[in-house]
Amino acid sequence: MGFRLANVGGRAALVVGDDYYDVESVSGGSIGGDPMHALRHAADLMTVASTLDEQEPTGLLDDVTLGPPVPAPQKCFGIGLNYLDHATEASVDVPKNPLVFTKFPSCLVGPTADVELRSGLCDYEGELVVVIGEGGRDIAPEMAWAHVAGVAVGQDISDREMQFAASPPHFDLGKTYDTYGPIGPVMVSADEIADVGALRITTTVNGEARQNDTVANMVFDVPTLIAYLSQVTTLVTGDLIFTGTPAGVGAPQGKFLADGDIIVTTIDGIGSITNRCVMVEPKGRPA
Ligand code: ZN
Repeated sequence: MGFRLANVGGRAALVVGDDYYDVESVSGGSIGGDPMHALRHAADLMTVASTLDEQEPTGLLDDVTLGPPVPAPQKCFGIGLNYLDHATEASVDVPKNPLVFTKFPSCLVGPTADVELRSGLCDYEGELVVVIGEGGRDIAPEMAWAHVAGVAVGQDISDREMQFAASPPHFDLGKTYDTYGPIGPVMVSADEIADVGALRITTTVNGEARQNDTVANMVFDVPTLIAYLSQVTTLVTGDLIFTGTPAGVGAPQGKFLADGDIIVTTIDGIGSITNRCVMVEPKGRPA
């Protein structure tokens, strides 16, 4: 049986419908309250999740503000140009190997957090986020899903001014400002996803449809990405992969994010994250 893991006030919680259950409480203390600790006990979470109909909910989701379901991964990767139509709109060739950059874990925020813009050239990128379960090195593609704890909805917010301040562009800095990694609303355990390719990612800005594609149109699929990354570095529980964004980002249309904009990113079967943009005064910005 699968589960939906959330972060309520820094504590791991299991979500069923409109209710949440504090993991430490419903596990009788056998699983700690830290969401990162809970992730390392996925099998126990499965067992606890199967007992929830006998337990009292801790509270209602409506009454709390969720944090990022995976708040402190050791590593957080992004994949550039991983959808054919997005590479085309960006006027670049489709990469021959995965184009990898990093988002510092410090950019992660919850599913309803504000995004702090520091230039007028910030962009949205709705993405499927993969959460590593059991870690490993040199993971074979056919074994990769066994190393996935679950998936979440994410936004790889990107400051194009910073990204293209260098030539060739440096992806990392433009994508790792504080608040540039909203994820959530929950992590859905991998066994709940019957067909990852069928997952549909949509992004709207102020209600206007901007992105709409399915995971099946990735250039490099999830197993390929896990195999590729794990050749280089040992993946550990909680590591995140932002797996790339479909076509429809703002830059090619000249539609950049502005103060007050509301971004809604949805993956059917996982949920939605809703993030408001707030323009803050740029401080010490490099030219
Ligand atoms: Zn991206």
